[in-house]
Formats: sequence, C-alpha cells, structure tokens
Amino acid sequence: MRPPSSILAKMANLDGSRSHGGRWDALAGAILRDDPARFSRVYRLILGTARVTGIGPDRLPDFLGLENGGELTLLGQEEIDVSVLEPWLRDQVARKSSASDWPERDTERILLASVRVGQHIFAASVLRNCGDKCVFCGFRPAAFGGKRMLLASHIKPWKDSLPHERLDLRNGLAACPPHDAAFDTGLLTVNGGLRIHVASSLAAAVQSDPLARQYYGQPPLLVSLALPSGAEQPAAKYLHWHRQKVFAGHQADVLSPRRRAEMTRRDEQRGAGLAARPEIGRSGGVARG
Ligand SMILES: [Zn+2]
Repeated sequence: MRPPSSILAKMANLDGSRSHGGRWDALAGAILRDDPARFSRVYRLILGTARVTGIGPDRLPDFLGLENGGELTLLGQEEIDVSVLEPWLRDQVARKSSASDWPERDTERILLASVRVGQHIFAASVLRNCGDKCVFCGFRPAAFGGKRMLLASHIKPWKDSLPHERLDLRNGLAACPPHDAAFDTGLLTVNGGLRIHVASSLAAAVQSDPLARQYYGQPPLLVSLALPSGAEQPAAKYLHWHRQKVFAGHQADVLSPRRRAEMTRRDEQRGAGLAARPEIGRSGGVARG
C-alpha cells in the first residue's frame, strides 16, 4: 500500500510534470487520459481488484467518485477544439521532437493530455471561484442537478493566451451557454469596473425581438458581474484585451462604415475610451479597436 504522498508523486509522474518521472509514466498517463471511457474502466478494474483482495475504502478511497459507474469528465474542453489545437500542436511537436527521444505520435499524445488536464484544472477552479453561477445572469444549474449548463471560458481566449495565462484563474468566467457564446463572440463585454456592456447590434435586437430580450434584456442580464464575496476578480488586463480585440472586433464587423465613423466621432467627442470610464453602464458601441 502506497501512502497518499506517494500516490500524489505517482500522479505527477503521469502528467509528465516531473522531469525525473518514470520513462513510461508520462506516456501511460497520456494514453489513459486520451480516452475517458478507458480511464474509467481501468480505474474501476483497479478498485474492484483491491476490494476483492480485501482492501476497503478506508485504505483505498474512491477519490474520483467513479467506483459505481459514471465516466471521468474533463471540464472546459469545448474551448480547445481541433481548429485551435492543431496549429498549436504542430508548433509544439516541431519544437519538442528534436529535444526528445519519443516518437512524434507519443509526443503529441503527451502534449494533448497535458493540455486537457490543464483545461480541466482551470475550468474547475473558475467554476468554483464563480460560485457555480453564470456571472452575467446568476443562473445556477447545480441547484437542480443541471449538468453541462455552465461553461468556464477564458476571457482572453486559450489560443491567444501565453502558457501561464491559460491557467490563470483571473482569466476565466463561468457563464450559461447563451451568455458564454455572446461573450466569446464579442456581443457582450465587461469594463474595468465589472459592468456588463452589450454590443449595439444586440442592444437593438433586445428592443425589437422578444426572444433576444428574454436572454439579453435586463433582467435576466445583470448590470455588473455577479461574483461571490471573497472571489478572485477577473484581472483588468484580460478584460481590457477582450474589449479591444473581441468586442471592438465584433462591432467593426457588423457596423456599416458610415455608422462606424459616426460612432467613432461620438466617442471622440466624449473623450476617454471605455476602459477609463467604469461608471458607464450598458451603452453598446462605445469601444473602439
Ligand atoms: Zn447567464
């Protein structure tokens, strides 16, 4: 029987984070995490074998809660689909292959596993920090056993983030699917004072379309982000990035050149930009790229 510290050390070997881990540990861990169903089967097999040989939960607890069924679910994976991972992987494999004695395919597996687990850890900590609630409307699906109804996403997207920014809790927000998608595509943003802003195209739809109003009117949309007291607040640098690159980019895409020029003129008359004016509330279209 291994003491808990030894199990933790073994897990660190498996995710490849310990350079002196066993040669095959990183690959074995990667192969297991490649396929959550297989991971769960192997996990249950090990626990089942332990129980048959008289090792009870007091000595070997079911620490993943999978002993009686269910599957290991890695959170936050929707943000790293093939279109995001492929270019990153090509770059990483090119860099690492020369320095490593693994075949390219195994290097890929180990890299992918470490990204998936990194995303899971990031998403789990973001959801916890946000009190398992959508920060835009307060919806809390965990209250009635709702699953996959709350997403944890990066403010500055994974593909644009530096490695340490991808794991930074202050670069994440939890949101229900319609608010997550609207934030992700620049229909919503948040200023330095944590006030929620709606893009002008969406603000217009809220006026004319009852269904748009149902999701993006106020309520259910809150005036400012809802975070539990004592929560880590999103870092200003990520919110600034989102306003400049995602929100302003969306505005530029949907507005006609004439309307864009009008809005630019109006902004200039107003003086400072959105970032410097946390008192401004939901005033679609004040950000400029
Ligand atoms: Zn919401």
